[in-house]
Amino acid sequence: MSIFCTVDDKHIPLYRIMWVASVPHFCGEEDCMAEGKYEIRLEQGEAVWAKVEERDEALEALDRWQGGLETPGEDWEA
Ligand SMILES: [Zn+2]
Repeated sequence: MSIFCTVDDKHIPLYRIMWVASVPHFCGEEDCMAEGKYEIRLEQGEAVWAKVEERDEALEALDRWQGGLETPGEDWEA
């Protein structure tokens, strides 16, 4: 299991992700490079801009990664 996800040709360590946008970026500026992309905010005020597929992959990777950190609770009682 990888702790990286790929966004905008960069391998991002999942533990550096602070939050993931649920709606695409829109600011109305003509020269905006991030228009229609989803912001993935990293530690230290950095951000990367993900296409919708990359955003979904990042969310799935986060789910798997966080799930892997949890200690098993209910399974071993039965
Ligand atoms: Zn913008």
